[in-house]
Amino acid sequence: MSLSLEPGLRLVAATHNPGKARELAALLEGRFDVVTAASLGLAEPEEPESTFIGNAIVKARAAADASGLIALADDSGLCVAALGGGPGIHSARWAGPERDFGHAMDLVEARLIDTESDDASAWFICALAVAWPNGPVVAVEGRIDGALSFPRRGGLGFGYDPIFVPDGGSLTFGEMDPQAKDAISHRARAFAALKAALF
Ligand code: IMP
Repeated sequence: MSLSLEPGLRLVAATHNPGKARELAALLEGRFDVVTAASLGLAEPEEPESTFIGNAIVKARAAADASGLIALADDSGLCVAALGGGPGIHSARWAGPERDFGHAMDLVEARLIDTESDDASAWFICALAVAWPNGPVVAVEGRIDGALSFPRRGGLGFGYDPIFVPDGGSLTFGEMDPQAKDAISHRARAFAALKAALF
């Protein structure tokens, strides 16, 4: 079996989030015929692992084995040094069932104040995994380092973007235009690593 991805292949994006499926398809530059796990009626697996890579692998493996197609999955989040790497793999959960990231960012600020630490360093991680049905899996990770900044600034981007300033910059991800963010983001770095490995 060749561990490379030929253009035009049908891939399943192991996500039930249509926004994420669109983002994965866009990052694959129209190279592949991308279908979603939801459109194939596949069950959404739990995220049982304690690492981003572990969860990406579980999601890709489950979708590939259930569909018989090569599957791509991601797992990502914000890690804060003073919070022992949290919210980390629980980044989505901190926003609650309403996916209220205003609340999640307030929670990060409150927890940081509780620690009485003056270390605001933080990083985003994106793990990507590609699994072949009943076959191997390739996984990579991208990371961007920076610092938290309060109050929130900027209405662009999503999630925790308004409180994250990448190293060497002064704008938050929420203030940066999407192309500038995409040029340096953890997701872009993970995709660059995946392309180098598989395309
Ligand atoms: P996942 O669906 O489990 O991968 O959840 C990822 C979580 O991390 C979500 O809560 C996102 O809001 C957050 N996150 C991941 N990447 C970014 C980013 O680029 N900007 C802001 N938040 C992000």
